[in-house]
Amino acid sequence: MNSTNTELISRWKKVVQEVSEACVKSGRRPEEVTLIAVSKKHTAQAISTLAREGQVDFGENYVQEALAKIEELSPLQLRWHFIGRLQTNKVKYVLGKFVLIHTLDSEKLAQVLHRKAESLGVMQPVLIQVNIGQEAQKSGVSEDNLFPLVERVLALDNLKLQGLMALPPFFEQAERVRPYFVRLRKLKEEVERRFELRLPHLSMGMTNDFVQAIAEGATLVRIGTRIFGPR
Ligand SMILES: *Cc1c(COP(=O)(O)O)cnc(C)c1O
Repeated sequence: MNSTNTELISRWKKVVQEVSEACVKSGRRPEEVTLIAVSKKHTAQAISTLAREGQVDFGENYVQEALAKIEELSPLQLRWHFIGRLQTNKVKYVLGKFVLIHTLDSEKLAQVLHRKAESLGVMQPVLIQVNIGQEAQKSGVSEDNLFPLVERVLALDNLKLQGLMALPPFFEQAERVRPYFVRLRKLKEEVERRFELRLPHLSMGMTNDFVQAIAEGATLVRIGTRIFGPR
């Protein structure tokens, strides 16, 4: 094995360990949190190296790039998460390829996803992305439009709403991100109360702030740089 692979594996092992420690520290069981290795702009070879070590969940942002990797690595039976911005004209390519789409943020996208899922006869699990920091450059539904969007998604038979996702503002000090994680958790609880349902997932926490995210209830952490190195 070459040294690049050895370093990749040791960074990954360290992250697995840190995720597990963060769970224990916040009184949670490590099985409650799934580590998604965000592999955008990294090679299929790097992904397969980690897959051989036991990493199963991978996150991708760009449709073309993701499809090429999914195709190439199909014998490995990985679980792919779509975490990038999804344009309606790309929906036909992603349906059925991802165990979870984290970035549903409009009624139009919900409608298009549902129609394609229906035509394929599949149930597509989705998360609604919330623009929790109200940042103009970021996607995600505004808090004001969240409940109407939830209502719409619940009415679509071929979409299975699994929870909420957010990409909060970046702060060097991770503690400053914590209030946004708290906010997302409260929004999930509010959705559960209003619509009388259980949402299993909160997708939040990245390289710089996954410890805080886990403390605030994340069930899916999306970590790229800390595992694969800079992009
Ligand atoms: C790139 C990306 C990540 C991973 O970010 P890192 O800081 O490299 O861990 C997580 N979530 C989303 C939505 C991303 O686009």
